[in-house]
Amino acid sequence: MRESLNDILCCPVCKGDLELEITEQEGDDVLEGTLHCGECDETYEITDGIPDLLPPEMQD
Ligand SMILES: [Zn+2]
Repeated sequence: MRESLNDILCCPVCKGDLELEITEQEGDDVLEGTLHCGECDETYEITDGIPDLLPPEMQD
């Protein structure tokens, strides 16, 4: 995902702002990392450039 995409993403649970933590990056593409919601304290993984923004109860 593009790093700038973080500006338009929001938490699927509470619609709060997400904090991007980058583990691996290529140019302005985020390959691996996490998106953390400070409102409800959920963390969403970014794997192979795809942010997994399913609510936690659907992630099983
Ligand atoms: Zn949230």
